[in-house]
Amino acid sequence: MKKNQKFLSIICGIIAAICLSVTTGDGRNPASACPPNEGTAGKEELVILCLGDSITAAIYPKKLQVSLDRAGIPAKVFNAGMGGYTSGHYLGFMKSFNLFKAIKPDLVLLKLGTNDARTDFASTETAQFVENMEGLIHLIREELYEQSPPLVLISTILPIIPQPFVFTERSARRVVAEINPAIREISDRLNIPLVDNFTLFKDRPEWLEDGVHPNRKGYQAMADNWFTSITEAIAKKTNSSRRTGFVGDEFYLQHNPGPEHPESAERLKSIVRHLEKRGLLGQLIRIKPRPAPLKWIATVHTPQYIQYVQEAYHRGKRFIHSRDVSISADSFEVARWAAGGVLQAIDAVMAGQVNNAFCAIRPPGHHAFRDRASGFCIFNNVAIGARYIQKKHGLSRVLVVDWDVHHGDGTQDIFYDDPTVLFFSVHQFPLFPGSGAAEETGKGKGKGYTINVPLPAGSGDREFVAALREVLKPRALEFDPDFVLISAGFDAHKDDPLGGMEVTPEGFAEMTRIVKEIAEESCYGRLVSVLEGGYSFPGLAKSVEAHILALKE
Ligand SMILES: [Zn+2]
Repeated sequence: MKKNQKFLSIICGIIAAICLSVTTGDGRNPASACPPNEGTAGKEELVILCLGDSITAAIYPKKLQVSLDRAGIPAKVFNAGMGGYTSGHYLGFMKSFNLFKAIKPDLVLLKLGTNDARTDFASTETAQFVENMEGLIHLIREELYEQSPPLVLISTILPIIPQPFVFTERSARRVVAEINPAIREISDRLNIPLVDNFTLFKDRPEWLEDGVHPNRKGYQAMADNWFTSITEAIAKKTNSSRRTGFVGDEFYLQHNPGPEHPESAERLKSIVRHLEKRGLLGQLIRIKPRPAPLKWIATVHTPQYIQYVQEAYHRGKRFIHSRDVSISADSFEVARWAAGGVLQAIDAVMAGQVNNAFCAIRPPGHHAFRDRASGFCIFNNVAIGARYIQKKHGLSRVLVVDWDVHHGDGTQDIFYDDPTVLFFSVHQFPLFPGSGAAEETGKGKGKGYTINVPLPAGSGDREFVAALREVLKPRALEFDPDFVLISAGFDAHKDDPLGGMEVTPEGFAEMTRIVKEIAEESCYGRLVSVLEGGYSFPGLAKSVEAHILALKE
């Protein structure tokens, strides 16, 4: 059972009560209101690991266990408090002794810093304290639990009543002026819930037995404070992490179009690094990509083209069709994985495992034609996804929203005469690839099912948002899609070196909200967003963050 599902099942009793009161009038499955298949309270135990010094090593974890037992929350609390340890000691301890892998916690309660404030050999400079804590959080979040990291909660440290030695007047001052502000700053910057045990003890000196350690009443108050924060954090994590999936994999870095090429592996690295730093990656449900079976790629591309791509590198070709689609040895496989990631995300949405998902994949796809590569694109990931939705999942109508700064010419061409796929593109015009005029609206039965909104260079949030709200939304609701795909390029960002637009991350967030509204009003929120362009690394990373946060709202 996935960790996120475990969170779900544990508080499912509470959710089930809420869900009982949720009904829909049209008989449709209210997928967004209530998690499916989680109807009975789970027997899974929540594993909680308490890290800290002698204050943790004493009895608060035991009292916390009692509170959880009383509340009927199946949980096992492990006490890893180490008397006398500073943040530096603890980081060294964790690096040498792999406690996380042994215990596999769902939740880590982190309370360190009291010994760092000592006025003796153990004293730690505040900057070093921050570095140690970040190292520890990084170990917990990323290195040991890449797929599903535990939720970390961080506590402020207790006030100190000054003693003549070790915990002196200076220590007491540092707690207030340096250590706790640093902890608050870490909580804010890394998006880690804060448990404020300092404020709890601030006006209760009688709860401190020896000026540093709590007495029984103090430990009970601490345990109660942790308990409240844990139940809040679980509810929040359940509500948020349920919704949005994330497709990513190191294999996507293997497509190497050459040193000067803007579509570099660094794009994905900068996204993942930024989401990790913001603590967002751990809140998403990771979807493991697989290579797309060739039969699904062949629903869009001709067999000759697929074979050509498969053999190109080994026949000595270093680009496909156009020099900007340069390739390396693994490019064919990586392109299969890019399409495959979209298919896995669609499956996860259809299975109710997530409500929506973002695919951090490359190479991009929207310039790829049935039988031709173009504009950094090999296989048209979104088009393959649309056909998969129709043929594998039996849905009729798919909406594709393309807000990449470049016109999605490949996607448009593939569905140009097809009334089952509504293709909408807003883009800079004129710009590569040169198509995308407002007069291009489809042909034959597909007439009216292609919508282009060309915008002049210099357009920004206002123009893009208006295009989606005023042009796309009414047409999309009339079309009534069964599934929505986004060709999410972020090269309309104001700092992008290839585009000339002024869109900000908040603009991308607002565009996301509009597409989500369409999905919610027409198809239970079924939405998969697929990365296309975006070549300013910081601009791309921040825009993806804003986009994912809006998907999670
Ligand atoms: Zn683009």
